[in-house]
Amino acid sequence: ALFERIEKYDGDIKAFITLTKDEAIERAKELDQLQAEDKMDGELFGIPVGIKDNIVTKDVLTTCASKMLHNFKPVYDATVMTKLKEENSVMLGKVNMDEFAMGSTSETSYYQTSRNPWNLACSPGGSSGGSAAAVAAGFVPFALGTDTGGSVRQPASFCGVVGMKPTYGRVSRYGLIAFASSLDQVGPITRTVRDNAKVLELISGEDSEHDMTSAKDQNTDFLSGIDKDISGMKFALPKEFLGDDVDQSVTDAVLKAKERLESLGAKVDEVDMPNLKYVVSSYYLIASSEASANLARFDGIRFGYRSENANNLDELYKKSRGEGFGDEVKRRILLGTYVLSSGHYDAFYLKAQKLRRLVAEDVQRILSDYDLIIGPTSTTPAHKYDEVKIEGTKEYKNDILTIPANLTGVPSLSIPCGLTGDNLPIGLQLIGNHFEEKKIYNVAYQFE
Ligand code: GLN
Repeated sequence: ALFERIEKYDGDIKAFITLTKDEAIERAKELDQLQAEDKMDGELFGIPVGIKDNIVTKDVLTTCASKMLHNFKPVYDATVMTKLKEENSVMLGKVNMDEFAMGSTSETSYYQTSRNPWNLACSPGGSSGGSAAAVAAGFVPFALGTDTGGSVRQPASFCGVVGMKPTYGRVSRYGLIAFASSLDQVGPITRTVRDNAKVLELISGEDSEHDMTSAKDQNTDFLSGIDKDISGMKFALPKEFLGDDVDQSVTDAVLKAKERLESLGAKVDEVDMPNLKYVVSSYYLIASSEASANLARFDGIRFGYRSENANNLDELYKKSRGEGFGDEVKRRILLGTYVLSSGHYDAFYLKAQKLRRLVAEDVQRILSDYDLIIGPTSTTPAHKYDEVKIEGTKEYKNDILTIPANLTGVPSLSIPCGLTGDNLPIGLQLIGNHFEEKKIYNVAYQFE
């Protein structure tokens, strides 16, 4: 039934890059057989999933939405895939994204531009636009996305679904094709808060063999007490989160959510986050620096795209990279390489790291007094493709509200909190302290 739905609507929405129909149907039949024999096992038994195309899947094309990896079939599964398979989830295919997860609209994909199921003239957001669109369109009950500077939460907010960027280290990054390793996390996109908590529970955990930044001894029981009373909790709403750049419709919806929390007996105070103004510059320097190092491996030799126009080795590198990467990826590699080069390192990279620390201190200072930070997920709802022509670095500033959680490593969830006059979803962001996803889900659940 889901493949029928996908065949009917995905021509317009363009959420999937690769459909794995034959494999999925075969797996579903095997699971039917197990069920008939009363051998149902696994917490996601038979539940379909869509996987962002930067998460490696054994024997299934994993392109990162780039020409560079147009023919890349990995020989292994990412840890999150292994975990989903152990729970007997069934993958329906790989979903679209911005190329190498660089972007906020799903437009930098080499293959296709995804569309928002709420309004096909609009972007589903990005970079996990395919993941959010697939869930919102009812193609899959859940999807995995990745979030380096907002790429799970912003598309979730644009598509009216629930998206979590977990604590850095909560989920193994083994098999996630790296963009910016100190910021990247895999996170679930679902229709409900409960589903989100369940999926995060199942993909979390230490992976000491493969990812030394994965955290040990994690408490992953997010569901017990999810409906607990939140009266007496204290929330912080940074006044910079409702600044001039934020659309009125977004501000109104967030203030309604604030009233709702107050009506449940919680306290919401306005606070200051003075260093918010630095997050965009800090993030784009750090993320681009790490990307320039991570993407050095794509050289046309070992895997992926190889230029046919080269006469010697040097040309092979240059032409493969020149032809294989799109403009946005090249922009980041150039910026990152420049920032890391001797003579500029102190002035840019080191300074960006210092700003990262200042922002983290702001977040930590607030969270030492409050249960959660609340605010909009994005400054705007989804934009219409033909009204807002995104050019170069101009869109970077729109990531201002999601970046603090990545720079600090803390968890952050986006949940739907209202609609604009044009019927486009608006997202509320809930940011907690390290490993406090349980508290975030508890509060988010009050909105369902
Ligand atoms: N929009 C941000 C960027 O382009 C975030 C991307 C992400 O989280 N992967 O870098």
